[in-house]
Amino acid sequence: MRISCLFFLLLSISASAQPTPKVVFVIADGIPADVMERLQPPAIRQIIQTGKYSRAYVGGVKGTYKETPTISAPGYNNLLTGVWGNKHNVWNNDNQHPNYNYPSIFRLVKSQKRPLTSAVFSTWLDNRTVLLGEGLPQTGNLAIDYMFDGYEKDTVRFPHDRAAKYIHLIDETVIRAADSVIRLKAPDLSWIYLEYTDDIGHRKGTGSAQDSAIGLLDRQMAKIASAISYREQNFNEKWLLVMTTDHGRDSISGHNHGGQSNRERTTWIVLNKPVTNAYWASGAPGIVDILPSIANFLQIELPDSTKYELDGTPFIGNVSITDAKIERSGDDFTVRWKSLQPSEKVKLSIAYTNGKKEGKTDVYYPVGTVKSGNGQYVLKIPGLAAKPFFKVVVEGRHNTLNAWYLNK
Ligand SMILES: [Zn+2]
Repeated sequence: MRISCLFFLLLSISASAQPTPKVVFVIADGIPADVMERLQPPAIRQIIQTGKYSRAYVGGVKGTYKETPTISAPGYNNLLTGVWGNKHNVWNNDNQHPNYNYPSIFRLVKSQKRPLTSAVFSTWLDNRTVLLGEGLPQTGNLAIDYMFDGYEKDTVRFPHDRAAKYIHLIDETVIRAADSVIRLKAPDLSWIYLEYTDDIGHRKGTGSAQDSAIGLLDRQMAKIASAISYREQNFNEKWLLVMTTDHGRDSISGHNHGGQSNRERTTWIVLNKPVTNAYWASGAPGIVDILPSIANFLQIELPDSTKYELDGTPFIGNVSITDAKIERSGDDFTVRWKSLQPSEKVKLSIAYTNGKKEGKTDVYYPVGTVKSGNGQYVLKIPGLAAKPFFKVVVEGRHNTLNAWYLNK
């Protein structure tokens, strides 16, 4: 008895010595990677100096079932759910019908055994009420602990002007709230959404006006970085700041976006800590990779039904495999992946239904287990070519990939 008491005492001491992980992610709307790299705004540059910067991509996989418009709300939802439009079903900024069967990072955080708190600071109300589906039965009545948004509906406090100055004033209000709540309440997961940079992009295109808007954003980010340092200096916490954008802009004037050009698809990710893995180093990460990376940093467990559908690969924490796809040649189907741990094993399984889309359970049949380093597996299943649809899951030791086949 005494030994076990001592054991638990030691366990609790060592556990309390570990800093508590916290995450703030920021979407600053519509800033192409080339603009960010040309400007190198000072506060953001300082964050990168002790952290990481990479070009990234949005828009899904061009020309495939994963292709997703480079439009704002689809972009935010790629990040929130870790899946592309074919799953989350948000295709535009209006008249959205998110498929809540693909849970957001906020729901995943709230489904943990340990109680975790969350916050949304946003210049657009729909982010919480529609994309996250806060309080809706379809999201299990998702609760957010701290909410600061909806200011764009308050035309008395923020009269709408043609130059969209009011959007900047709302961004400032959102930042003041985030600064204060991070310092006082330290939510485990916070989302800050800032809109002004995109509004100016639409009005003025790429150039000095958008550059100035990014200068204002930079000062806002200095405040958030300072709030995070305050917490880390005074509390036993480690804070990850993830900053990104939801799309680039067209390469002609920079007024527009939505298409699949390189400049619209090319974005960037800033991290305040050098916590990245071999996958980050292997090329440009996608916006869908942010969810599993945050999950790893927060040390939260994801249910298999979520892991089997994620389109993102973690750039933080352990990673085994990346980039799964199915290739057809005649009646032969080959599943391919890239291996970062060639000596590990991977397990493949197949489902012929897409029940997940309707909130049902898919039955997966085991296909085989091979060395990860093989990088491919030929499916030997009679009648496979006649199937209208199937999806394959490749389970590595540390992460899981999936690929669909749609018979056109
Ligand atoms: Zn946008």
